[in-house]
Amino acid sequence: MAKPIDRPIFTVQKHQASHLHFDFRLEIGGVLKSWAIPKRPSLDPRIKRLAVEVEDHDLAYADFEGVIEEGHYGAGPVLVWDRGWYEPVGGHGSLAAMWEAGVLDLLLHGRRLRGRFALIRMKGRPRQWLLMKQRDEEARPDREMKEEGETSVLTGRTIEELNRAAKAGKLDAYRCGL
Ligand code: MN
Repeated sequence: MAKPIDRPIFTVQKHQASHLHFDFRLEIGGVLKSWAIPKRPSLDPRIKRLAVEVEDHDLAYADFEGVIEEGHYGAGPVLVWDRGWYEPVGGHGSLAAMWEAGVLDLLLHGRRLRGRFALIRMKGRPRQWLLMKQRDEEARPDREMKEEGETSVLTGRTIEELNRAAKAGKLDAYRCGL
């Protein structure tokens, strides 16, 4: 995907590790700031999703889809559940300053996640944030993304298909840190 300058990227990877979760990653300061979200992100503005801050990833990881090998951290299949770019909204200064303040007000331009979202660090709960859809024309109150939310936006594959391909030796495994 060609990326014009000043369009920082975001990615969401569905990851079937020991627990299924969604890794939400934003390009900030040359790395992917990352959160693990135990439940699928929602387009319903009334729903707040817990997002636990995890380690930064390299930008190159944004499009990773495959199976992390047994014996490595996060072993299991990963698919690219959403991919796009985003822009900060509101007058909160630079992205780095928004990160420090723990208030990220974002306009997401993805395939599944579109429109305005807020990511807010909870007071007194280190590394715990909340991801919420904000009310706009992209909001979908009362509609959970279920069946339409299972596949890779890059390849159309499901977690089960990745697992089957890996077992059949038709998918390269991925070694973390290599
Ligand atoms: Mn993960």
